[in-house]
Amino acid sequence: MDFGYYGCFRRMTFAACVFFFAIANSFAQNVVAEEAEPARTVVVRAGRLFDPVTGRMIDRPVVVIAGNKIRSVSNGTQPSISGATLIDLGDATLLPGFIDVHTHLTSNAGGGGYEGLGISSPRAALIGAKNARLTLLAGFTTVRNVGAEGYSDVALRDAINAGDVIGPRMQVSGPPLGITGGHCDNSLLPFEFHHSAEGVADGPEAVMHRVREVIKYGADVIKFCASGGVFSKGDNPLLEQYSPEEMKVLVEESHRLGRKVATHAHSAISIKDAVRAGVDSIEHGIFLDDEGIALMKEHNTFLVPTSYPLFWFEEHVAQMHLPPWVMEKSAIIIPAAKKNMAKAFRAGVRVALGTDAGVYPHGLNGGEFWSMVELGLTPTQALQSGTVNAAELMGWKDRIGVIREGMFADMVAVKGDPLSDIRLLQHVQFVMKNGVVYKNEISTPNSAALGR
Ligand SMILES: [Zn+2]
Repeated sequence: MDFGYYGCFRRMTFAACVFFFAIANSFAQNVVAEEAEPARTVVVRAGRLFDPVTGRMIDRPVVVIAGNKIRSVSNGTQPSISGATLIDLGDATLLPGFIDVHTHLTSNAGGGGYEGLGISSPRAALIGAKNARLTLLAGFTTVRNVGAEGYSDVALRDAINAGDVIGPRMQVSGPPLGITGGHCDNSLLPFEFHHSAEGVADGPEAVMHRVREVIKYGADVIKFCASGGVFSKGDNPLLEQYSPEEMKVLVEESHRLGRKVATHAHSAISIKDAVRAGVDSIEHGIFLDDEGIALMKEHNTFLVPTSYPLFWFEEHVAQMHLPPWVMEKSAIIIPAAKKNMAKAFRAGVRVALGTDAGVYPHGLNGGEFWSMVELGLTPTQALQSGTVNAAELMGWKDRIGVIREGMFADMVAVKGDPLSDIRLLQHVQFVMKNGVVYKNEISTPNSAALGR
């Protein structure tokens, strides 16, 4: 018998259907509440635990997890908890689940250019399902996905939250906002196709409408393009795209509706105008100058340096078969980015980790810790950028980014000490998200060890 919405609407009026499903849902919720079991308890032991708030290691930690939350963190003594499962990670280092605030789960490396025009939104969502799994298994238990046509990122986020697909917890932007012909438009086809990307909006009024629209269809965060970029045909990363007036309206409206704003900005002028407009993060920031650095510090704006692709590209560009305009722009951008990121790090601009995974293969996200250290952050600062800082930028400081009582049980572990070898973070051996273990190459859970 068919009790689905479609079957209902074939047989009843609209009002009758709504009433029927309201009753059915309230009944289902009551049943779940009555049958709810006490939260499962897991105890995790390790050699060290990295606390990004203090920047210190805690020796011999014991973390007690009840359901999807951390109940307690102590050291040395092991609590006796009846029926708990023990996960003994030996002398491994336990860290908070990593956070990537700039990813493109719904696209694959090398999928841009004309080939990308053949990818439908449903196909992009399924590409996202594959990449979400790779990203989680690389230790990234939370990501912010910045830019997806057709709201394929909304579908992916909802599928992960429903437990249909394995992946990190997500904040998503839907289509990124941008000017006609800009980096967030799609300028591959000639005029007669009349094709624009979904986020295109010109003028303050259209920008305000577009912000409201992407929120209507599921955006948690607003992404826009303030300057030209590398992968877009026919624009210039050294120029500004949105005017200061448009940026001001965009940011005000987003904030008024409770959304943070992430801004793709390469040129020095676009960075400064975006910071003055009140954006929460500058993504890439390639041509950041001294005045821009001072402004970012004054406004407490986060820099998301997306530095690993700069190194990855140098090694792999020959095999990527990229369009000529991408090659020309990369040659200018890579050396400038390395120099200016190093300068921003020295000046103490606040940094949140973002990988731009999707322009290179997903699952290599841990390389961003290494590349930021290569450009001047200490290993502790790099880890903070991918945990507490990223959590703060996402507005989730109260729930993720640190292993402490009351936070979601999102944790990873590596053998050895990542503060002396940052490359260890590129191969995590243990991943837990929301209290569920997704990867454990270190130990076998043992409930007998804790006694009953
Ligand atoms: Zn990006």
